[in-house]
Amino acid sequence: MIEPPRDCGLCPRLAAYRADNRAANPDWFNAPAPCFGDPNARLLVAGLAPGRRGANRTGRPFTGDFAGVLLYETLIRTGFARGEYQARPDDGLTLIDCMITNAVRCAPPGNKPLPAEEAACRPFLAARLAALTRLRVIVTLGDVARRNVLRALGLPASAGASGHGAETRTPRCHLINSYHCSRLNTNTGRLTPAMFEAVFLRARAVLEGAA
Ligand code: SF4
Repeated sequence: MIEPPRDCGLCPRLAAYRADNRAANPDWFNAPAPCFGDPNARLLVAGLAPGRRGANRTGRPFTGDFAGVLLYETLIRTGFARGEYQARPDDGLTLIDCMITNAVRCAPPGNKPLPAEEAACRPFLAARLAALTRLRVIVTLGDVARRNVLRALGLPASAGASGHGAETRTPRCHLINSYHCSRLNTNTGRLTPAMFEAVFLRARAVLEGAA
């Protein structure tokens, strides 16, 4: 199964958090965030988990919170998205040859999933990877995404290099790691828009055979 059911209960802590959010904000999405983008994509962007006020509120990955601004604007600039990002799922933004998912599909308290929750959600990530038959490049946003993508590919987490811009070739596809486009990383200058754009330009180069 690629998309978890709305009431997936495999992670009791996250299901309880979801129920709390549903009670406090019944007009929010409050469910596992589905993947978004082109089902025939050659590029997959893998994030950590939905933000409480981001995908957990709007239902589209990286939509509605700060991280989405830099991600979607960068995808537009590098030709992986078309339209205008307006922080809402009906803004008409279209991904081109690109899909976005999260390693953990439910919003975790403090944006920190537990290792058991990463493991519980990994079959959904593995199913997504399997369904992307043309997949060639995965951009992982941060270490949690990187290690879960590696494990979902059947590799040990130690198989891939960490750090911004680090690349790993796997039998299935090419991995490029990026610092997460979180407000913390951008506000502190750990990740600049230029650094982030360079990752997607590199993904473009790999897709065009310049790896
Ligand atoms: S994080 Fe994944 S496995 Fe855990 S409850 Fe949500 S959808 Fe289910």
